[in-house]
Amino acid sequence: MVCFGHLLFKPEALSWLFILHNYMDLTDNIVDNPFIRPHINSAAATYDIAFDPEYMDLAVATSHLTGEKINRFTHIQQSRDDMVKKPKFLRAIGRKTGTCFQRCVGWDALNTVYSVSYEIDQKYGTDYHERVCNYVKYIQKNDLMVVGGMTDPKGDRGLPPHKQPDPDLFVHVVEKKEDGIIVRGAKAHQTGAANSHEILVMPTVSLKPEDKDYAVSFALPLDTPGITLIFGRQTNDERKLGTLDQGNPTYGVVGGEALVVFNDVFVPWERVFMLGETEFVGMLVERFATYHRHNYGACKVGVIDVLIGATALMADYNGVPKASHIKDKIIEMVYLNENMHATSLAAGYESRALPAGNYYPHTMYANITKQSITRYHYEICRLAHDITGGFIATLPSEKDLAHPVVGPMITKYFQATAGVPTLDRIKIGRLIENVTGGTSLVESMHGAGSPQAQRVMILRDANLEQLKKLAKDIVGIDEEE
Ligand SMILES: Cc1cc2nc3c(=O)[nH]c(=O)nc-3n(C[C@H](O)[C@H](O)[C@H](O)COP(=O)(O)OP(=O)(O)OC[C@H]3O[C@@H](n4cnc5c(N)ncnc54)[C@H](O)[C@@H]3O)c2cc1C
Repeated sequence: MVCFGHLLFKPEALSWLFILHNYMDLTDNIVDNPFIRPHINSAAATYDIAFDPEYMDLAVATSHLTGEKINRFTHIQQSRDDMVKKPKFLRAIGRKTGTCFQRCVGWDALNTVYSVSYEIDQKYGTDYHERVCNYVKYIQKNDLMVVGGMTDPKGDRGLPPHKQPDPDLFVHVVEKKEDGIIVRGAKAHQTGAANSHEILVMPTVSLKPEDKDYAVSFALPLDTPGITLIFGRQTNDERKLGTLDQGNPTYGVVGGEALVVFNDVFVPWERVFMLGETEFVGMLVERFATYHRHNYGACKVGVIDVLIGATALMADYNGVPKASHIKDKIIEMVYLNENMHATSLAAGYESRALPAGNYYPHTMYANITKQSITRYHYEICRLAHDITGGFIATLPSEKDLAHPVVGPMITKYFQATAGVPTLDRIKIGRLIENVTGGTSLVESMHGAGSPQAQRVMILRDANLEQLKKLAKDIVGIDEEE
């Protein structure tokens, strides 16, 4: 059956999820939909781990608001210990799923809005922080998954929101009512949106007073009337209709991103956390970015642990584990990966309390971490491809393997070291293809901001004037003169 723009999600609520893949027979059961199911499984790992005795210390925290035990993904971080546990926790899940498990974005959004709402209230006497605290309690009590909704479509990147020919390319308020506000616009690339409960929306760029209507932060359930989710296409995603060819059949690849469209959606006042305070938007964007960049030396490092393991296995299967250049390349993969984790841990160890009391990573180390992933992940994948060989680019399909005539030929001609089943070699090859593929790499490049955004922060925090003074002091150049 040919389906286009198939309606999948809560038709009675006019809240829709579209999957624009025109060759599949879709059911209206979102949970069993093969395009979404792996992302659900991956998100489920963030729930399962909280019941695993081995990881409980990392996965369970105590709410500072209620004193109750909660899943760490809903925690407002209270100490350096929390900020060090965060990367250890994310790495542990990445090692289990071998892909993005989606839930950190909303966690970072909660911590961001918690801190910024406090500072807005200090200035204006508003009650945003109390609203955020009530929201956090609700999320914690029900252990909900929240999308961190920052990135707007942005239109012409050189123009601020109010100068865009289409005013909806950034989320904005179109009406204020007695009981709340009406919002319009969209958030792009929203990780985990198809299988999350809520979305927490924040502005995406610093704003001037002319853009007051765009300075809005709010939270809504994702099945609110007027919200439409348009699911993203991934490299080779029709392979999700099979198993073996996916590479990571249980957990998929990346986070099942969607475009989330707000078509004149009502937000009640108790869910509005910022409205018009443009001078706080830069602070909010920087806080969210820093929280989120901290994570990349953790979740991705866990995924790369899986990749290094797969690559080393492939070297075994291919009969070259002892070759000196192979060992050296694997050492390089480990070296780069541990570098990223080390800077992420450092960002946690050097974290500090914000005025609201919650902890915030060291900005330089968090930005270094994210900048490194934009480069090292590519380099690590290059080394994985080098060691694996070309067969991951030319492998026949799962169906071919099951074919009575060509299947045995594939088994014969894709074998390597005696004793290693060809099927195992194909499975590991497909996993390497999955983890090193386009969709996965692009997330490392652009997730939590494109590389230039980190370089701007690195330059700011480097404090070049102070460094120049160090040099002058050593050679005796007088500051005054
Ligand atoms: C897999 C994936 C998952 C994601 N998940 C989420 C999520 O859960 N939530 C969320 O909110 N966002 C998410 N993002 C979005 C991510 O934060 C953005 O992709 C990132 O901020 C870059 O924005 P963009 O994609 O619009 O690219 P652009 O901003 O268009 O960047 C493209 C290039 O243009 C440059 N550029 C852009 N603007 C300017 C300018 N004004 N001047 C000079 N150069 C400029 C950039 O530096 C970059 O080199 C995700 C992205 C990916 C790929």
